[in-house]
Amino acid sequence: MLKFRSVAMLAGVTLLGVGCGGPEELAQEKAPMTFEEFQARAVADENNVFVIDGDTAVEGVEGLRAFYDSVIAADEGRQQDGLAVYYIGGDIKWNSTTARNLTYCVSSSSFGSRYSTVVSAMNSATAAWEATANVNFIHSSSYDSNCTASQTGVVFDVRQTSTTSYLARAFFPNSSRSGRNILISTSAFGSISPWTLTGILRHELGHTLGFRHEHTRSTASGCYEDSNWRALTSTYDRSSVMHYPQCNGTQTGDLVLTSYDKSGARALYP
Ligand SMILES: [Zn+2]
Repeated sequence: MLKFRSVAMLAGVTLLGVGCGGPEELAQEKAPMTFEEFQARAVADENNVFVIDGDTAVEGVEGLRAFYDSVIAADEGRQQDGLAVYYIGGDIKWNSTTARNLTYCVSSSSFGSRYSTVVSAMNSATAAWEATANVNFIHSSSYDSNCTASQTGVVFDVRQTSTTSYLARAFFPNSSRSGRNILISTSAFGSISPWTLTGILRHELGHTLGFRHEHTRSTASGCYEDSNWRALTSTYDRSSVMHYPQCNGTQTGDLVLTSYDKSGARALYP
């Protein structure tokens, strides 16, 4: 595969909904990005978390460095022919016990009048993954009144943020408790057609299960990120719920699970 992955890897550091770096930025090979450049392009979020690849949380400068080093070290890539799991020497996924008990809270104080909208959207979005893979998300509403990044009664928390850097962001299964948040920007409650909040959450929940952006399976997407992934199905799926439409994707409606997404999710969580 082509080796300009490190150039493109942060091309998608924008909102989920706004364009990745255009193909023109990737038309030629450039020198690999330095760590300083990599860090400068990350979005500094709350609690010493940095957001990379558009909507993915990494903890601290140490986490940024580890991600950068692992990407540079993994120079060979694993290009294969829908869904791809985060892979660093092994799949980054939940064990079967935790996968069946993915508890979360929804912060009633941060969402305020939007609280019930978020609860409903989370119910719908989690149901989409539960219907196809052996995973189970549980809304532990007893923690909603104290739903913070340090709430140890749940696997992850769902809170509102006022950032304009993304519509929402999530985490991967190897994050520690403080980084395991789904943060939803106030902008996600505005006009985001053809997407819906539920569609955005379907995408974000894919990350929480370990799934990478589908567009990183193709340098031609213009949004290639890195090679730390393993393909779960034999076909690159431009319509995947994990593929940004603006990265030469083919999904023109809301973000929904495709047949390849479903088979990929079942393959990882049988
Ligand atoms: Zn994403």
